[in-house]
Amino acid sequence: MKILLVGAGLSNAVIGRELASAGHSIVIVDSRSHIAGNCHTERDRETGVLVHVYGPHIFHTDDKEVWEYVNRYSAFKPYTNRVKTTVKEQVFSLPVNLHTINQFFEKVMRPDEARVFLESKADTSIEEPKTFEEQALRFVGRELYEAFFKGYTQKQWGCHPNELPASILKRLPVRFNYDDNYFFHRYQGMPEHGYTKLVEKILDHPNIEVILNKKFERGDGAEFDHVFYSGPLDGYFNYELGRLGYRTLDFERFTFDGDYQGCAVMNYGEESVPFTRITEHKHFAPWEEHDKSVCYREYSRACGKDDIPYYPIRLVKEKELLAKYVELAKNQQKVTFVGRLGTYRYLDMDVTIREALDTAREFLLCMKNGRQMQSFYVNPLG
Ligand SMILES: Cc1cc2nc3c(=O)[nH]c(=O)nc-3n(C[C@H](O)[C@H](O)[C@H](O)COP(=O)(O)OP(=O)(O)OC[C@H]3O[C@@H](n4cnc5c(N)ncnc54)[C@H](O)[C@@H]3O)c2cc1C
Repeated sequence: MKILLVGAGLSNAVIGRELASAGHSIVIVDSRSHIAGNCHTERDRETGVLVHVYGPHIFHTDDKEVWEYVNRYSAFKPYTNRVKTTVKEQVFSLPVNLHTINQFFEKVMRPDEARVFLESKADTSIEEPKTFEEQALRFVGRELYEAFFKGYTQKQWGCHPNELPASILKRLPVRFNYDDNYFFHRYQGMPEHGYTKLVEKILDHPNIEVILNKKFERGDGAEFDHVFYSGPLDGYFNYELGRLGYRTLDFERFTFDGDYQGCAVMNYGEESVPFTRITEHKHFAPWEEHDKSVCYREYSRACGKDDIPYYPIRLVKEKELLAKYVELAKNQQKVTFVGRLGTYRYLDMDVTIREALDTAREFLLCMKNGRQMQSFYVNPLG
C-alpha cells in the first residue's frame, strides 16, 4: 500500500518504520526543515554543544520493549535527571525531598520525623481537594506550596493554581529520603548523538521517502491508501470549530564561557522571575567536553495562531471542543490521527513510541483482516 505520514516526529518515524518493514511504501512529509519533531537536537554553531531545540528531553521508561527498540537505533548513555530550583535566594533540590525539606525549614530531620512534621503543616480542613492549590495545601502545607509549587505552576499554565484541577498533582509530590532522581522509571538515558540521529536511523529504510519543508493540506492524501496524521487535530479541519488551547514556549538563547549553572535544568519558582527555568545543554551530554556553554531561558505563554503548540491545556472548555473535533475526525475515511498533536495529549517519548508501535500493529492486523483502520487507535478523550 502507499501510505502518507504527516509529521516526521517520533510517532510517525516509528509507524513508518514498522509499515515499511512490512513491505508498504511510505511517504513522510513535514512542514519543518528537519526530522524528529519536537525532540529535534542539533549542534549549536558557536559552541559545538548538542542543543535540545524545543526544550529539554530526557528519555525514561519502564517499558522494556520500548527501551530495547530505541537502543536498536542508537547507543544510549546513562543519564539521571536531577533538577534544581532557585527560590528565596537559595538553591534547592527537586522533586521536594528530605534534603529540600531540611534545608527549607533549617532542620535535621530523619524520614519519619519529616513525615510527621509535614503532616502537622498539611491543611487537614480540606477533605476533598478540588483544585491544584487545595491538593498542594492538603499534601504539603502553605510554606512548601508557596515556595515550590505556586509560582512555577502559575508561570507554566498562565493561571492561578486554584483554576487548575487537583488531578495535576496526583500523589504526594514529596519524598522522605534523599533520592533526587526526577523520574521513577527503570530505564533512563540519552541517545549518544541526539534524538535527531536516532530518528534518522529509524527512518533509514528503502521503503521510506522523507519530504521536508512541505505542509500537508487536507486533500493531499487523496492518492494514498491511508494517511497517518500527527499534526494538530484542529489544524486538520482548518480550525473550523475554533482553536484547541495550548501553551507555547519562548527560548532566549545566551552563551557563557565555562559552566553557567553546574546542572542541566535550573527552575525558578518565584513569580517575580519571568522565566520558568534555564536549560544548560552541555550538561545533557556529560561525556562530551566543551569550553563554551549555551543556555536557554524558557518562558511560557498562551499559544497564538502562529506559535508552536507545546502543552495542551485540556481544561473543561478545551475538552468540550476536543469532543467536537473527535466527532468530526471519526467521520474521516482512511485517516488515523496519532501522536501528541493528533490526539491533543501530553505524551512522553516512551508513551509516544509505545502507542506508535501498537498503532502500526493494529493497522497491519486491519489490512490482514480486510478491516478499515479506525480514526483513533487511542481515544483522545480517555
Ligand atoms: C518542552 C517539552 C519537553 C519535553 N520533554 C520530554 C522529556 O524530557 N521526556 C519525554 O519522554 N518526553 C518529553 N516531551 C514529549 C516529546 O516531545 C513528545 O513525546 C514527542 O515530541 C511526540 O512526538 P510526535 O511525533 O507525536 O509529535 P511532534 O514531535 O510534535 O511531531 C509532529 C510533527 O508534525 C509536523 N506537522 C504538524 N502539522 C503538519 C502539517 N500540516 N504538515 C506537515 N507537517 C506537520 C510538525 O512540524 C512536527 O515535526 C517533551 C515535550 C515538550 C513540549
